[in-house]
Amino acid sequence: MRKNIVAGNWKMNCDLSETKVLLEGLTQSLPASLKADVIVSPPYTSLYYAFENLKDTPIMVASQNINENDKGAFTGEISAKMLKSVGVNYAIVGHSERREIYKETDALLKTKLDQALQNEICPIFCIGEKLEAREEGKHFEVVKHQLEKATFHLTAEDFKKLVIAYEPVWAIGTGKTASPEQAQEIHQYIRDLIANKYNQSVADEVSILYGGSVKPANAKEIFGQADVDGGLIGGASLKATDFLAIVDAF
Ligand code: 13P
Repeated sequence: MRKNIVAGNWKMNCDLSETKVLLEGLTQSLPASLKADVIVSPPYTSLYYAFENLKDTPIMVASQNINENDKGAFTGEISAKMLKSVGVNYAIVGHSERREIYKETDALLKTKLDQALQNEICPIFCIGEKLEAREEGKHFEVVKHQLEKATFHLTAEDFKKLVIAYEPVWAIGTGKTASPEQAQEIHQYIRDLIANKYNQSVADEVSILYGGSVKPANAKEIFGQADVDGGLIGGASLKATDFLAIVDAF
C-alpha cells in the first residue's frame, strides 16, 4: 500500500551553517515513531552534509533537480550518479520553478525521470496548473498533459517508483492553498489517470503529495483527504518545529 510522505523543498535557502542549525532542530525533536516518511531537499552544497548527519535517522535526502545526461561536458551540472554517491535517494523533478524560470519542457523532464530511475533515485515528479488555467477550468487538462508527456512511457514497474506531487502554481509561496476538496478532486483525477493507463493496483501504490502553502494549521485537513498521501513543503520546511508539526499532521 502507498506511503505517507512529507518532503521539505528548501529551494535556494540554507548555506552550510544554516543547514546545520535546521538539521539539528529536526533531529533533536524527531518523534520516536513517525506517521510519514520524511525527506529533506537541501541545496546541492548541503547534500553530503545532510546525508552524513541524517544517516542514523529515518530522514532521507532528496536533490531539487537532476541532470538528464550521464556525464560529460555540461559545465555547472550535477549527474544522477554523483547525487547517488552522496546519499541521495529521491530527486524533485519538474518543479514549477524549473519549468517556468529554467524553461524545462515535458520532453526534457521525461529524460530526467529516466536518468533518475536508471540510477535508482526515486523521482518526486511535480505537476500543477497556473492560475490562468485554473480560472479557465483547464486544470485537469494541464495535469493530464504534464503526466502523460513525461511519465506514460514508463513500464508499470518503473511508474510505481515515482512519487507524484500536485502543486498548483497559484498556491506556491502565496499563502493560498487549494481547499481540501479541490486537492482531493484533482488527486483522485490523477490517480484515475494512472489506473486507466496502467491498472488500479499501480495507481493505489503511488503516493500523490500536495504542495502549495502547506502549514501546520492546514496540513491535517489536506492530508485527511482520501487521495492525498502527504505534502511537498516549501517555506514551512525551513523551520524545524513547523516541518515536524506537518509530519505529525496525519
Ligand atoms: P510553499 O510551501 O512555500 O508554498 O512551496 C511549495 C513548493 O513549491 C514545494 O515544492
